[in-house]
Amino acid sequence: MARTQARLIRILVRIIVMATLAAFTAADGTSTAKDQQKNPARYEFSEAHMGTRFRIVLYAQDEESARRASTAAFDLIARLDATMSDYRETSELMMASRQAAYAWVTVSADLFRVLAASQEFARESMGAFDVTVGPVVQLWRRARRQNELPDAKKLAAARRLVGYRRLHLNAQRRAMRLDREGMRLDLGGIAKGYAADQGIAVLKEHGIARALVAAGGDIVVGDAPPGAQGWTVAIRSVTAEDEAAMIHLSLVNAAVSTSGDAEQFVEINGTRYSHIVDPRTGQPLTGRRSVTVVAANGTTSDALATAASVLAPAAALRLIDRTPRTAAHIEVIATDHTITHESKRWMSIPKVTANERKQD
Ligand code: ADP
Ligand code: MG
Repeated sequence: MARTQARLIRILVRIIVMATLAAFTAADGTSTAKDQQKNPARYEFSEAHMGTRFRIVLYAQDEESARRASTAAFDLIARLDATMSDYRETSELMMASRQAAYAWVTVSADLFRVLAASQEFARESMGAFDVTVGPVVQLWRRARRQNELPDAKKLAAARRLVGYRRLHLNAQRRAMRLDREGMRLDLGGIAKGYAADQGIAVLKEHGIARALVAAGGDIVVGDAPPGAQGWTVAIRSVTAEDEAAMIHLSLVNAAVSTSGDAEQFVEINGTRYSHIVDPRTGQPLTGRRSVTVVAANGTTSDALATAASVLAPAAALRLIDRTPRTAAHIEVIATDHTITHESKRWMSIPKVTANERKQD
């Protein structure tokens, strides 16, 4: 029964995340025929991992090396999924969490790195991003499935298990410890960004620097495609009615993530509940908004996009402005209008204008 349910959730999540993927269309500047003769060719691969579709676009000299590199990247991403999934009770994360209430537990280098980054984002966001939200997220996931609000007593009990200060890390021992039995970690707001970062790193080890790795709404890019200034990433905006009106970013060695309730939500008694929860109240977000964060890497853009969805827009912008090399575009959607907020660095992110796109 539990297994069937888990499968159903995975399928559901996959469908929903595929919808999220539609929020992005990533394209590279088209090179001229002359370029293509002296330059490497473009290859594209995709595989399903972490409940979403991972897409790799890269430039390589031949298909053989393109395949070898992308296979190695997907293999690593699959390993990271097995390490960090909270949908598999046997993942390293789930097993370590169960033991860590009783003793310090040594974890793998990848898991430790993601937990350490998570704790930093938790402190920076004053708890808006918090991977200890697991027990509360579980209750709301069930609520979404059953189309019924969680029981108030259960929710109160789950909230007592949430709080990033109850998760302790020891860097020397690469170990973790939890304050309370029943705590549950959820890396859903950061693992895809980290996996995309690691995918780009593996491609680089294989000599491929001109690459893009997309994990649903989390995209990490390396060097620019041949003959292009950068990778063009289109952001679907609620105010833009068609492709031409969308914002097109031009990115090199950077990452971009979107978060928000636009695609993933459930409606109960007329209220839309997002899959993002405010860890400080135990309640899912109900206001509609779409958040895009550009950062130096996917771990940062993924976590900060989630954090910026939880925080009030002014606090979200302050968080982004004080984090080096990050920028954000936030759309708050009201019934009859949309308010757009931009962080200070948003203006300086290179954009591709409609005219430039026509010349491609
Ligand atoms: P997506 O999965 O659509 O890319 P996010 O990156 O925003 O969206 O991650 C949302 C997931 O993160 C949720 O499904 C849940 O597993 C987890 N989560 C929910 N709320 C929080 C939060 N406040 N802090 C950290 N993780 C969260
Ligand atoms: Mg996120």
